[in-house]
Amino acid sequence: MTTASVDDDVFADILSQTRRFVRTVVVPREQEILDTDRVPDDLRQAAKDLGLFGYAIPQEWGGLGLNLAQDVELAMELGYTCPSVRSMFGTNNGIAGQVLVGFGTDEQKKRWLEPIASGAVASFALTEPGAGSNPSGLRTKAVRDGQEWVLDGQKRFITNAPMADLFVVFARTRPADERGAGIAVFLVPADTPGVQVGAKDAKMGQEGAATADVTFTGVRLTDAALVGGSEDIGYRAAMTSLARGRIHIAALAVGAAQRALDESVNYAATATQGGSIIGDFQLVQAMLADQQTGVMAGQALVRDAARKWVNDEDRRIAPSVAKVFCTEMAGKVADLAVQIHGGSGYIRGVPVERIYRDVRLLRLYEGTSEIQRLIIGSNLVKNAKRAL
Ligand SMILES: Cc1cc2nc3c(=O)[nH]c(=O)nc-3n(C[C@H](O)[C@H](O)[C@H](O)COP(=O)(O)OP(=O)(O)OC[C@H]3O[C@@H](n4cnc5c(N)ncnc54)[C@H](O)[C@@H]3O)c2cc1C
Repeated sequence: MTTASVDDDVFADILSQTRRFVRTVVVPREQEILDTDRVPDDLRQAAKDLGLFGYAIPQEWGGLGLNLAQDVELAMELGYTCPSVRSMFGTNNGIAGQVLVGFGTDEQKKRWLEPIASGAVASFALTEPGAGSNPSGLRTKAVRDGQEWVLDGQKRFITNAPMADLFVVFARTRPADERGAGIAVFLVPADTPGVQVGAKDAKMGQEGAATADVTFTGVRLTDAALVGGSEDIGYRAAMTSLARGRIHIAALAVGAAQRALDESVNYAATATQGGSIIGDFQLVQAMLADQQTGVMAGQALVRDAARKWVNDEDRRIAPSVAKVFCTEMAGKVADLAVQIHGGSGYIRGVPVERIYRDVRLLRLYEGTSEIQRLIIGSNLVKNAKRAL
């Protein structure tokens, strides 16, 4: 995994342009995104022009080359608005793109990272019915046939599947044995015969972001599609990419919580009840205080976890700590935001109603809260045993 970064002054510019894009261009269009369940083409183009489709792709492959410490600063800005905007390029820079960055051969990087950095879309296809929290149970198979691989299986809830150009597909090539997990990862262009994308899932929230099933039926691939040229890279690539992604999701949660807090403060400072500003009620102030405390704790944790990732100090416990804390914090902050808004908080078109639904997903994907706790607890015990 690359830890190269861009210079501070260049990054400050990227960050301020992204902040301006989010707050002055996207925020005023949120209702349009909700009503149409899609991100308008001009916003997609503007994100491409800002380089956001490849912000975490190394510069040598055409990206902006941000490291994870910079990525989280950007994610906290992007989390401030509808998550579908970040989702357009989330898989490129995160779970799908980082498999290529960390584990692809130079030919694979050249073939795919450059188009991805300029706007092609890569999707990460790991989850299957019955293999979500425990991906080692996946049943998608890649079988050798002469010089080719033949891929068969079904993936579920695949973000960006309807607009993907490339699927990064995890498949079993043999049962786990002493050589490794037997899970490989393949690069499958979306137009390959035998690839079929299902209907868009009807989700609870995150309007404008699309997920769908993807079915692979007798899909023929050459060795050039096998990531890293090895049958045993898949499981490690998935786990590494997901761990990195967890810090990014934590940062996104902090951005959403900040927005919920800002909406709450503005509402509390202006709305009245019986002639009094509701923000003058101390019980309302207590809710604002809990929101602010959560946001600041989340910010500090995300920055610390990202620094530990970049310095290779902790790539196991800290990502899960950041994800479980920040995503649960965002859930509580969004819930308080609805409470502070009273009945208005339950009405469509009020931003906190959207945020309440949107942040619920963050505790489910890229590892549920339960899985994060299992990772944290098991690694603590493992480390203690090692130290004996
Ligand atoms: C909108 C959306 C987008 C997604 N995008 C992608 C994507 O792009 N690519 C991709 O591959 N996947 C994607 N996913 C899938 C997502 O990562 C999984 O849904 C998630 O990991 C949970 O897996 P599951 O749905 O199979 O639930 P399950 O694993 O069946 O979990 C059900 C419950 O059981 C608990 N549980 C499971 N195992 C254990 C255990 N060992 N101990 C204790 N509790 C346990 C879970 O915490 C949860 O509470 C997406 C999902 C959604 C909803």
